[in-house]
Amino acid sequence: MTATASDATVSDAPASDTAPAAAHFRFFELEVLRTRRLGHSFLRVTFGGESLSGFRSGGYDQSLSLFLPPAHQEHTVLPSTDEDTWFASWRGMPDEERPVMRSYTVRAQRRTPEGADEVDIDFVLHGTATSAADAAGSPAAYWAGRAVTGRRIMAIGPAVAENKSVRFQPPAGTDALLMYADETALPAAAAILDRLPAGARVAAWFEVPHADDRLVLPTLSDADITWIVRESGAGKERIERVLEALRAAELPVAEAPYAWLAGEAGTIRAVRRHVVQERSIDRRAVRFTGYWRLGASEEELLAEAYAGQAASEEPTSAL
Ligand SMILES: Cc1cc2nc3c(=O)[nH]c(=O)nc-3n(C[C@H](O)[C@H](O)[C@H](O)COP(=O)(O)OP(=O)(O)OC[C@H]3O[C@@H](n4cnc5c(N)ncnc54)[C@H](O)[C@@H]3O)c2cc1C
Repeated sequence: MTATASDATVSDAPASDTAPAAAHFRFFELEVLRTRRLGHSFLRVTFGGESLSGFRSGGYDQSLSLFLPPAHQEHTVLPSTDEDTWFASWRGMPDEERPVMRSYTVRAQRRTPEGADEVDIDFVLHGTATSAADAAGSPAAYWAGRAVTGRRIMAIGPAVAENKSVRFQPPAGTDALLMYADETALPAAAAILDRLPAGARVAAWFEVPHADDRLVLPTLSDADITWIVRESGAGKERIERVLEALRAAELPVAEAPYAWLAGEAGTIRAVRRHVVQERSIDRRAVRFTGYWRLGASEEELLAEAYAGQAASEEPTSAL
């Protein structure tokens, strides 16, 4: 699960009261070092900052929660980063001052030869991400589109590499991997491919808005990648196009396949149904996560989750 309100207040309390476990997540201050356009829809923001010396990405699809300031503020201001009080104080801020909380993926973490810690996050600039309307409607994409060196934001991120925000967990004995990702999950898919060993068999479908978003994805694995360029269409039309591509594919022959699916919630539901019902993949070997939902902001999804009305599938911070 992404480090959310609930994760951050539960510090993985020990089963016995003798050996307190380290908190898996904590607050970090991230400072923008530089940005780089990767493709039509992607902007890589590289962050640094002293607190990153305690940041421990588990790799793969490691996610974190970012707190992004309202358009009129340069940096994120939170009244408290104390584990017990931050949530109530954040929620209690006036609407126009409260930073938004959004889930993102740690595309990479590294230490430079000079000993500085850096983290890359690849933002999809959905919408135009430039207008004032986007600031109100898609604040994270809007913030990323205007990110400049020196801007500081807050994050709840991993303090230990083994944490619940790494969802990619193929069981031992997995002999083929199926992947579906849309653009929001492409950073996670790329980070997974980065780490797979030589010879691992992968069949992947990556759906992106533009031909220019077909990024080069370095991997040692034996990955057969099919790009689905969306061009146009939303909702049902889009889902049908993805299913068409999947139905046309021959999957690798495997005894113990594992499927990792992430992207728009409605599409993920349909793709999961396809792999379980039409491809007979054991539902326990399918890891699926809605990264966003057409027509709903992350606040709305979180509000649903808090109200206990989240979709019946695996709960995430976004569903
Ligand atoms: C575990 C996890 C990891 C994620 N990793 C990444 C990542 O590395 N990079 C990344 O870019 N995103 C990632 N996301 C998705 C990201 O959190 C959402 O896209 C988020 O809604 C963006 O916030 P926003 O403020 O821009 O838009 P919101 O205010 O949340 O949404 C505003 C409107 O935009 C729509 N919308 C949201 N995202 C998109 C989109 N991509 N395309 C079109 N419409 C959209 C919503 O349906 C809504 O109608 C991740 C999500 C999860 C749960």
